[in-house]
Amino acid sequence: MTLKHSDELKGTTEGDGSRLSVSVLASGSRGNATYISDGRTAILIDAGLSGVEIQRRMARKGLDPNSLDAILVTHEHADHIHGVGVLSRRFGLTVYINDGTRQASGNALGKLSGIFPFSCGCAFAIGSLAIHPFSISHDAEDPAGFTISCNGAKVGLATDLGIATGVVKAHLKACDVLILEANHDPQMLIDGPYPWPLKQRIRGRSGHLSNDDTALLLEVLQHDRLSHVILAHLSEENNTPEKARQAVKTVLNGARVKLHVASQMDGSSILTLR
Ligand SMILES: [Zn+2]
Ligand SMILES: [Zn+2]
Repeated sequence: MTLKHSDELKGTTEGDGSRLSVSVLASGSRGNATYISDGRTAILIDAGLSGVEIQRRMARKGLDPNSLDAILVTHEHADHIHGVGVLSRRFGLTVYINDGTRQASGNALGKLSGIFPFSCGCAFAIGSLAIHPFSISHDAEDPAGFTISCNGAKVGLATDLGIATGVVKAHLKACDVLILEANHDPQMLIDGPYPWPLKQRIRGRSGHLSNDDTALLLEVLQHDRLSHVILAHLSEENNTPEKARQAVKTVLNGARVKLHVASQMDGSSILTLR
């Protein structure tokens, strides 16, 4: 399988069922959303911007919200669920969410068009996509990472995690595309403006991965078929795209992996697996 990094394929990725397209629409503490489709089934992982803003970002990339089938939710923090309820109602989308996350979301979701309560560790399918949810360590009720597999391709996503446990490493093995948190540069966090308790929370086992943590994780996960790594959920105060890139670059040295950094404003371009 070859992977094209391609805005030029935009508009031709739907319909033939032979490819998996991945695009981060937004990433960071002001909102997260990732689009994945094989041309038959299209999902969002998280919808942490307003519904209108997510539609606007999809339109900008040539993606049709009417083609969406479902929204998968990682955890209840506002930067992951802000637009979930609105989009579910507007486009009739089933929301795949575990019970802990749904209860912890309180009234933030409103009435949903459909609910599928998954359990971390139990695989399920959404149309033609095979989904494996797994537990991550974060200060939320029952936070999840996911792998999405289809047509022999596998995408792994883990953001908002304080440590990369054995469970995380096991699930993220053998991915073609990895979307991994690289939240902060440890020194910038320590020197930065946040109050000490918040710094401790971010650094803690249920906080966020530093650039160095991400590099160590990638060292374990790297393999021949890994084509693209998208660094995600970067802190705007305690990190820079250059620092994140630099930290993981040494680990990926010599590999043919393409490295991307997803931004809060623009997310990432559309990657298409052939
Ligand atoms: Zn978050
Ligand atoms: Zn969070």
